[in-house]
Amino acid sequence: MFGQGLIKGLSITLKNMFGPKITEEYPEQRPNLPPAFKGSFDLKVPKCIACGLCANACPNKVIKIESEKDENNKKKLTGYTMKTERCLYCGFCVETCPTKALLWNHNFELAKYFRDDVNLDLFSSYVPSPEDEKPAKPEETD
Ligand code: SF4
Ligand code: SF4
Repeated sequence: MFGQGLIKGLSITLKNMFGPKITEEYPEQRPNLPPAFKGSFDLKVPKCIACGLCANACPNKVIKIESEKDENNKKKLTGYTMKTERCLYCGFCVETCPTKALLWNHNFELAKYFRDDVNLDLFSSYVPSPEDEKPAKPEETD
């Protein structure tokens, strides 16, 4: 029948106009990321005990930790850098951290103009937060 294709096309257009929106208008509309999303890294500096487990767990030697001993002969973190240009985003470092000092964040916009700019200095860029000042507790085991 003449016009059948037109009617079919219009019905599809109308269905898509009034149906649920599937695409997101990024970057104006920010994606609703799941809690377990793996973006970049955050380091809660007061919670880090400079144990080095994250650096040892890393298969690509991305993490460099600097520390010194305090007056009580206890290790104190003085530097924490990540060569994320080599990072596999495998998550071994986050999983192995006993105090939950190293965490994933939701920052997925990681493209940089210069290669060196992708690397992170998590010690120097740390912004203090009262929540992070709570004493570091080893991870509870089941
Ligand atoms: S995500 Fe994997 S490769 Fe990247 S720093 Fe952590 S352990 Fe290393
Ligand atoms: S495993 Fe956690 S506590 Fe230990 S050095 Fe790495 S970030 Fe710090």
